[in-house]
Amino acid sequence: MNDLLYNKKVMCPACNREIEVTRVKTKACKVLSRDTDMCVHYENINVLFYDVWVCDNCGYAALQDKFEGLFTRDVKAIKENISKNWIKRSFTGERDVDKAIEAFKLALLTLKVRNAKNSEIAKVCLRIAWLYRFKKHSANEIKYLNFALEAYKDAYQNERFPLDKLDEITCMYIIAELFRRVGKFDEAITWFSRIVASPEARSKPSLIDMARDQYQLAKDQLAEQNT
Ligand SMILES: [Zn+2]
Repeated sequence: MNDLLYNKKVMCPACNREIEVTRVKTKACKVLSRDTDMCVHYENINVLFYDVWVCDNCGYAALQDKFEGLFTRDVKAIKENISKNWIKRSFTGERDVDKAIEAFKLALLTLKVRNAKNSEIAKVCLRIAWLYRFKKHSANEIKYLNFALEAYKDAYQNERFPLDKLDEITCMYIIAELFRRVGKFDEAITWFSRIVASPEARSKPSLIDMARDQYQLAKDQLAEQNT
């Protein structure tokens, strides 16, 4: 196996069996750049590929920091809707982008079966869009950016902040930038200007700077679209 990776044994909270998952060594997580929607590019190895753990016995899948902590009703829903049809296969070891997409889609399926919050669904959809960006499959990237956008909008309206680690201003920024990336420049401009005008945003000067840049870009793109 790639020497930037290592395997670790964990208990699956859905089937209570021990499984082996693959993690990236901390020293390998060197950031190369960040896209304007927060997608991180790494040196050496794509850390995102390993962010979902999948149980090869029962098909339960989740982001690694959310893998534990299932309620009894979740376990029942997973058994009835996923494990029953699960064809055993392993996600341990090195992953390519397609294996990563498969793992993330299983995590999305688990969230849907659990009736999870829209903020959790949005987070996974956004990462699937990034994986399609790495794969240079722009039609599917846009499709999942749209799914993420719809779920973040719903979460913004109906959930209490912070959404896990996501604060309100950063969530507004992501919504604005996703609107821009799916070509809805009017909505993007509205959301970016709300951030720039928001008193709470003053505590995040780098985010205001990014919002100003992206506001201008969206304006230029809108003008170009209308010519
Ligand atoms: Zn399991």
